[in-house]
Amino acid sequence: MHEINLRITGPTPLAPAVLEAMSQQMVSHRSDEFKDLYASVDRDVRALLGTRHPTIFLTCSGTGGLEAAVQNVLRPGDKVLSLHTGFYGELFAQITERWLQAPEQLIRLHSEPGQSTDPQALTQLLQRQDFDAVLITHNESSTGVLNPLEDLVRIIKAHSQALLLCDAVSSAGTTPIHMDRWGVDVLITVPQKGLMAPPGLAIVIANDRAQERARGARVGLYFDFQRALASGRMQQTPSTPSISCFRGLQASLQLLFAEGLDTVYERHVQARAICQGALAELGLGSFAMAPFQSPGVTAISLPESISAQTLQRALEQNYNLFATPAAGHWQDRVLRIAHMGWFSLADIDRAIACMKDHMRQTY
Ligand SMILES: *Cc1c(COP(=O)(O)O)cnc(C)c1O
Repeated sequence: MHEINLRITGPTPLAPAVLEAMSQQMVSHRSDEFKDLYASVDRDVRALLGTRHPTIFLTCSGTGGLEAAVQNVLRPGDKVLSLHTGFYGELFAQITERWLQAPEQLIRLHSEPGQSTDPQALTQLLQRQDFDAVLITHNESSTGVLNPLEDLVRIIKAHSQALLLCDAVSSAGTTPIHMDRWGVDVLITVPQKGLMAPPGLAIVIANDRAQERARGARVGLYFDFQRALASGRMQQTPSTPSISCFRGLQASLQLLFAEGLDTVYERHVQARAICQGALAELGLGSFAMAPFQSPGVTAISLPESISAQTLQRALEQNYNLFATPAAGHWQDRVLRIAHMGWFSLADIDRAIACMKDHMRQTY
């Protein structure tokens, strides 16, 4: 029997140290012990994301974090540009459309399938129109495209005062992020993808400009950034947090820093190279176009004769290998193998060996 190989884009496998941290007895979330835990996770998250701004921890999944960011920082009358590269770009866009007075206030700049946002099209659009905010998906998990965040932010800053909201849900921990240096105003991520911790939290950072905007927001109570920031100054959350999730995240961040961030990012790049090499050998395509192939997930473009869902089931049943068809439009044409979070290159080699074995036998 094959060992389970969970190669999906989250939740990702957990290291033994993380499992152990999560199985500890509860403490009061008003205790000094929790405050120390909060301070440690806050410090490490900021170091990882390259920001001096405080972390806002929300008890919800990443989608909740995106929604909270939109509702705290955008006004219903704003005009918003969505850099749309796939399913998760669409999720961010729809969250925003529901918040705006009229859906026409959101403009989508679509990229070609498997491509990142076209810098020229972006420049031209920004020269013609004014926007209050721009939405960017850093790593578009559905297509395996890593958008060049730093370059896109530079273009936006050159032509616009717009606030920049970045979905870094599946990029944090897989590739370098320098939020403050690059000029990202709001960044959203989660523990359960590249940060190799359990689901249960959304992590949001808002810089001074975004916090200023949030001060005037008419937002519901639970996701109010002002409340979260005020509690955060006392190393607490306003309501009961997912304490086990904080503990797991503390342990996983310690593992990432112990490995060394450069080594962590290089491991992801090597995993991508293994997958891309295997595709070439198997005569399969990469859905994401070079040089924007994600270090965290490889999207395999399948020929008409192979259904992604059939292939997914076969890999699960015969090899205990868990891959996922692309979310949304490319559902049956694209199968994704994730290499994010707690994995070794041997896990990726093993996944590829199973793929090859299956392809030889079946097609
Ligand atoms: C997974 C994912 C989300 C949604 O996160 P949930 O925790 O499932 O709500 C959003 N954006 C991207 C890029 C993702 O990969």
